[in-house]
Amino acid sequence: MADDIIISAPKLTAAVEAIVAKGGSNPREAKLVAENLVEANLKGHDSHGVGMIPRYIQSLVEGGLSVNQAPKIVLDTGPLVRLDGQAGYGQVIGHDTMNIAIERAKKHGLCAVGLHHAHHIGRIGAWAEMAVAAGLVSMHFVNVVSRPIVAAWGGGDGRFGTNPICIGVPRKGKDPIVLDFATSRIAQGKTRVAHNKGVTLPPGTIIDNEGRPTVDPRFTVVPPFGAILTFGEHKGYGLAMIAELLGGALTGGATMRKAYDGQTQGVYNGMLTIVLDPEKLGTSEHFQHEIDAFTGWVQSGPVAQGFDKVRLAGDPEREWKAKRLKEGVPVDPTTWGDIIAAGGKVGLSKAEIEKIAGL
Ligand code: NAD
Repeated sequence: MADDIIISAPKLTAAVEAIVAKGGSNPREAKLVAENLVEANLKGHDSHGVGMIPRYIQSLVEGGLSVNQAPKIVLDTGPLVRLDGQAGYGQVIGHDTMNIAIERAKKHGLCAVGLHHAHHIGRIGAWAEMAVAAGLVSMHFVNVVSRPIVAAWGGGDGRFGTNPICIGVPRKGKDPIVLDFATSRIAQGKTRVAHNKGVTLPPGTIIDNEGRPTVDPRFTVVPPFGAILTFGEHKGYGLAMIAELLGGALTGGATMRKAYDGQTQGVYNGMLTIVLDPEKLGTSEHFQHEIDAFTGWVQSGPVAQGFDKVRLAGDPEREWKAKRLKEGVPVDPTTWGDIIAAGGKVGLSKAEIEKIAGL
């Protein structure tokens, strides 16, 4: 297996920005997309980082992704907003959606935004992080419309996506709690990363095309397709179902029903976001006191065998970021080759991209 290529975050951002801009995006869009993807890499989620670029560019070429879109307001009662993502880059649509949600929650105390038909909105934690930075609690239920890749509990093939759920809790003067995970045992992008790296998946993660357990990631990347399992057996399946119904249906968007056409690379998200202001609820001081007291109690317990400490959700991402800002972002050679090929599709040469990336 060839070594990873190490690129500094600013240089990687500049390279991705150049590819996205060449695809027709305005400077703001190119910057938001590049920064969001590199931030995912920095936070240790390579599955939602720059490795998404080949898929985005292919979707752009196919006409599944529209450049320079803004969320279109379909309904606006003040605290209730419904938005159409217009198949725009999810990094821009997600960003603008959160600005609306934050502004409304500050005003009304509570805001629910139903977003449908955004192209892939990436790492959901990015959206909760915007709200917690404004002192707000943020909850997100997301569905994915693309190839059905996750099996129902008891099911033998893929029927829905990796449907993430994310909740952010602000902490005054301290790092926030950001719980952000796919309801599948593993994010789809992580199976792609494993496939590109030529490594196996942990047992109990996926099934093959005949519903049998396997550790070979190819069954989630190339036909014949198997499926990823939900985490927590029936419980993760239940959460995935709720994320599909709230993120996909309640928002006015589509739920997953059709089998993959085997061709297109477009991936669309619906997201129900609920943002709440503890100040307006009148519990802000008490809430912060209890968060500190409770997390302090939880983290002061003995450490179990095999662990170095008890962490809070959001801690691992912050640890990754500190490390990768210092050491650079590793990109595996297959992913890098795919990014170069994506650049080629919009007219940017390997030499140009590698020059920008400082390689
Ligand atoms: P994961 O399994 O790595 O879990 C991440 C969560 O668990 C984070 O909140 C993290 O802080 C917490 N965590 C991890 N280790 C911990 C520890 N030791 N102690 C306490 N908390 C800990 O995440 P995942 O399921 O692989 O999802 C990865 C990313 O993929 C997420 O950002 C998710 O939003 C994104 N995603 C996006 C889509 C989409 O369609 N846009 C679909 C699926 C997943």
